[in-house]
Amino acid sequence: MALIDGKKVSLEIRDHLAEEVAEVKRKTGAVPGLAVVLVGDDPASAVYVRNKNKTCQSLGFASFEHVLPAETPEADLLALVESLNVDEKVHGILVQLPLPGQIDSEKVLRAILPEKDVDGFHPVNMGQLVVGRSLLVPCTPLGIITLLDRYGIDIEGKHAVVLGRSNIVGKPVSLLLLGRNATVTICHSRTRELAAVTRQADILVAAVGRARFVTADMVKDGAVVIDVGINRVDGKLVGDVDFQGVEGKASFITPVPGGVGPMTIAMLMENTMKAFRARHGLFA
Ligand code: NDP
Repeated sequence: MALIDGKKVSLEIRDHLAEEVAEVKRKTGAVPGLAVVLVGDDPASAVYVRNKNKTCQSLGFASFEHVLPAETPEADLLALVESLNVDEKVHGILVQLPLPGQIDSEKVLRAILPEKDVDGFHPVNMGQLVVGRSLLVPCTPLGIITLLDRYGIDIEGKHAVVLGRSNIVGKPVSLLLLGRNATVTICHSRTRELAAVTRQADILVAAVGRARFVTADMVKDGAVVIDVGINRVDGKLVGDVDFQGVEGKASFITPVPGGVGPMTIAMLMENTMKAFRARHGLFA
């Protein structure tokens, strides 16, 4: 079994991005800018936003933090998004989810200019992903593909089974795997004989949101196991995969923490750099 070290890969990506910032600044006099919007005081969201800002600063990106009170009316948030859409210093806009009940999240996500939608959730970017012409792809799925590539894991022709069909992980990662010529099966809560399906996987992606859901009997010998889950059990962070049971069977496996998690924020920065390059007509 080999461990897929997402922490290490994400640090390598960050180092590379810091060099890129210096290069694009030389060429354009500008730096990539990321605006992060937080509505309310959800503690987990506040931590995510703080981390995103810290990462921006350490890479030399400009960061713009907007913290709005929980009772902010939808119209005010839409007005802020509109002002960020036209701000030349802002290349990426991220509205931290979940949003308070009075705000229609779909409406807000649709208001972000697709060119600045570094989360990749806008229907235009989702559509581009379906037709295989995407620029901005959701960060966690992109992080997963990047990890497979970095570890030299072949995707083409493999049977990839994705557990979960959410818009932020399951569906986009399935499309990316399909785009790389895997044969893809998507499972969800109504899938019958789940273990019989997951046992066929050469590459198994678990994005279920249930602690240690994937057990050894659900995994084929030699499978590559990617654990997206972030669950808190007795104050400890655990994935959707029963790591101890499964590690002996897998050829490669991501740990939690230190697997997919750190890749998500690195991909957010990479998407912001992509948006910046597209805006300035620079190609990597
Ligand atoms: P969702 O809750 O949106 O989706 C979970 C999916 O799992 C659904 O499609 C659901 O099926 C399916 N599911 C639930 N129970 C079962 C079951 N018993 N059998 C089969 N399928 C089941 O979660 P997300 O996709 O947003 O997130 C998944 C996990 O990944 C979470 O732990 C989350 O915290 C984590 N995450 C981690 C990130 C990272 O950066 N590492 C980023 C984003 C998420 P159905 O559609 O039928 O309800």
